[in-house]
Amino acid sequence: MLTIGIAGAGLLGRLLAWRLSLAGHRVILCDKNPAHSQSAAAFTAAGMVSPLSELAVSERQIYDLGLRSMQLWPRWLEQLNARHLYSKNGSLVLAHAQDQAELAQFHNDLKRRLVQEPFDADTVSQAQIKALEPQLAHFQQGIFLPEESHLDNRQLLPLLCAAIVKLGGRLLWDCAIAFDNTVPTADSMARLQAHGISHPIDLWLDTRGVGAKQSRSSVRGVRGEVMAVHTPEITLRRPVRLMHPRYQLYIVPKADQHFVIGATQIESEDLSPISLQSTLELASALYTVHPAFGEARVVESPTNLRPSLPDNLPIAEKRGQYLFVNGLFRHGYLLAPAVCERIEHLLKKPLLPDQWRADFTSTGFTEADHDFHYI
Ligand SMILES: Cc1cc2nc3c(=O)[nH]c(=O)nc-3n(C[C@H](O)[C@H](O)[C@H](O)COP(=O)(O)OP(=O)(O)OC[C@H]3O[C@@H](n4cnc5c(N)ncnc54)[C@H](O)[C@@H]3O)c2cc1C
Repeated sequence: MLTIGIAGAGLLGRLLAWRLSLAGHRVILCDKNPAHSQSAAAFTAAGMVSPLSELAVSERQIYDLGLRSMQLWPRWLEQLNARHLYSKNGSLVLAHAQDQAELAQFHNDLKRRLVQEPFDADTVSQAQIKALEPQLAHFQQGIFLPEESHLDNRQLLPLLCAAIVKLGGRLLWDCAIAFDNTVPTADSMARLQAHGISHPIDLWLDTRGVGAKQSRSSVRGVRGEVMAVHTPEITLRRPVRLMHPRYQLYIVPKADQHFVIGATQIESEDLSPISLQSTLELASALYTVHPAFGEARVVESPTNLRPSLPDNLPIAEKRGQYLFVNGLFRHGYLLAPAVCERIEHLLKKPLLPDQWRADFTSTGFTEADHDFHYI
């Protein structure tokens, strides 16, 4: 059993803390913010788990890792008694009549990326759209991706904390950790002591998201703006994506007729409120999906930064007693279980390698056949 310090209680930090507690390790999860904070990107995310939709704009390994995560999420949520937070109703990609070429291009992109591999993406007629989403029957054609899913991330995140505590893990809020290269700074150690932690930590996991920029200059934040709206007039069972020549929109249904509308992707680390232009673009695209959205109430419009590395791919890298995990970019929920599983697997080794790196470039791995790359 190891004593593991985890710096950053966002998506990766919470998921790893829970998995490693389950595996019998003693876990101390620290976050710079207070317990009630929702400032992690994990809270702003729409919670889509959509490997095919993302394949059109991502590298191949995002798709492969996503398929693995889609196997793990339902099992893990079952273990958390939270299976109800995961909906596998597929997703629906739509375009207005004048933009049908966008839809065809999306389908062609998938075929090109997955040559000779089976994948589920069905062209659906107006009648089929009506059967899937009765209120969107005015769309004439779409693509249905039946395997895609989404989860209620805002409900999941506190549940993970409760599960960690139940397994004996410690949660330290208002406890910022900074690293000097691979070692926590003296200030950070003093903060831990102030929280009553005096025993040695065998391994530090750095899951600070964009916060890791403090010691890793390759980390960057990519601004994303979303709107959360509420309307009793619209019911959707699954995420809907609108293909549009200038901007793309998604609508993700949440509990009680709430919807997350997103998202912009801007190369900027500006965390200021949503711009008027983004508001106009998201809201007007939303209104074209169904005019009843015109009466929706805007509940919030958060902005956040997606933690990214230069290649927009995830990485896990161990040097001595420090393990850096980052780069989930716009795919945190799509990738996190598969990424965490690799780290769980690494920590099962009787003798941990001093230097280790998983850049997640392998494809086609299975549960029993992990392809770790050692340096
Ligand atoms: C608008 C938007 C929409 C998104 N939608 C989706 C989606 O639909 N599907 C999907 O798969 N992904 C989505 N994502 C991406 C997803 O949110 C991220 O990939 C994911 O949250 C990254 O997880 P993380 O744990 O690395 O970082 P975060 O979730 O940001 O967590 C980092 C944590 O580290 C803490 N921290 C920072 N510095 C320190 C420090 N010095 N000491 C201690 N703690 C520290 C922070 O307070 C935070 O709690 C979206 C992101 C955005 C912004």
